[in-house]
Amino acid sequence: MSCDFCNKKLMFYNDNEETDCENPKCGKRCLPTPRARTYVQLDDGTELLDVVMLGDVAKTYSHVLQLN
Ligand SMILES: [Zn+2]
Repeated sequence: MSCDFCNKKLMFYNDNEETDCENPKCGKRCLPTPRARTYVQLDDGTELLDVVMLGDVAKTYSHVLQLN
């Protein structure tokens, strides 16, 4: 689960309970949110690159590419 503001992974939380974000740059109270994660391979013609996309980007591309 991750912060719904900054997407940083939360190490300590209770389900469905607000918690203080552990990211010092964020520090907001947030509701732990499942983190969207999509693994893709990019082929630039010479090599395959493994890419991990997180958060809204992953959601967007999952929809477009139908990977999940
Ligand atoms: Zn945060």
